[in-house]
Order: sequence, then structure tokens, then C-alpha cells
Amino acid sequence: MRGERISTPKPPLAATINRLSSKASENPIARLLCLVPAQPLPICRASIMARRKSPLIPSRLRVMAEHDFRYNLLNPAHTLTECRALAPGRYQVTGNGGNIRSGDVLIVTLKGSRELSQRLTVDKVRHLINPPGQWMAVASGPVFRELAIVNWQVDCDACGKQRDFEFAVDAAKGEAARAPAAEARISELGWTNDGGRHLCPTCRESKQ
Ligand SMILES: [Zn+2]
Repeated sequence: MRGERISTPKPPLAATINRLSSKASENPIARLLCLVPAQPLPICRASIMARRKSPLIPSRLRVMAEHDFRYNLLNPAHTLTECRALAPGRYQVTGNGGNIRSGDVLIVTLKGSRELSQRLTVDKVRHLINPPGQWMAVASGPVFRELAIVNWQVDCDACGKQRDFEFAVDAAKGEAARAPAAEARISELGWTNDGGRHLCPTCRESKQ
């Protein structure tokens, strides 16, 4: 019985690996490929759960949160102290409260604007011990070389209703950039441009 067992062994794993690597060594490219697993190594669910519970949670495993810091929402637990551009598309934001983490989105009012906001994605955040709750984040957002807030008016070509609106435009792009930026803003407000005719949200609805 013992002899039989020895005569029909399962190929040991080491032998299989040896066979694969000797095959691969015939072709230098195949040999290189052998070193790279074709599929990312599976991570078991239990280990993900354990990492979620750990205080050192990688940001990619955490659900991104949105924090609204617009002026018109007065929430004393979430205050924005400063938002300034470091470079086009890079912003430094200082605030208090809100448990900000990297990967989160901050909605902030544009400087000099009543109603315009922008969305910034937090790249890095540093929580300060003193004053408690204060944090400073570096975030990425819209690329403006020179931000200008412009006030325009639009008239509805069907009912004559008039609306004042603001839009943001990169002043460095000149006058030509204004009309497209204005059109983009009024479409956000529910207006439509029907072959050069502007329709307010009400007339747009009734036309459909
Ligand atoms: Zn109208």
C-alpha cells in the first residue's frame, strides 16, 4: 500500500513552479511576464473590513464625502476661514469642523460672488490641534488663471421675463470667453437657448 502511494503522487507545487519557470526561461519576454501577476491579487473581504475599522483607513476604501461651505448655509459646526488659489487649479482651504478627509469634496462660494460656487477635491488635509477642529487642506478644482465674476441679464424671448445672473469666467481668456460661460451658467439655471432665442424655465416647460 505504501509503495502505491509513492508511485502515484500529486505533482508537488514546487515541481509545477519549476516546470513553469523552465518553460518561461526559453523566452526572455515570457520570463519577465512571469514575474507580474496577470490579475491583481485578491484581497479577502475580511481584510477589507478590518482595514475599514482601523484608524489608518486608506482614502480609496472610504466613501467620499461632500461638505457644503457655501455662505448661504449657515452651519456653525462647519466654517470656512479662507480659500485661496495657490496656482491655477490648486487651492488652499482653511476651515473648522466637518471631519474633512482626503478625497472629499468641498463646495465653496466663489470669492466676490453671491450665488456661484465651485467644487474642490481635497488632496491633502492637516488637522490642527490648536485651535481644535481647525484644518488646512490643499485641494484641486477649476483652472482659472484670473477669475472674474460677471453680472449679466437675460430676457425670455417668449414671455419677456428678465433675470439677473452671475457667471464666472477666466479673465485671461478675454471677451470671447464670456458668452459661452454665460450660456453655460443660464443653462444650469434652467434656461435654454433655442437657436438664439432664450427661453425661461417656465416657457421651456410649456414648449415641450
Ligand atoms: Zn418665459
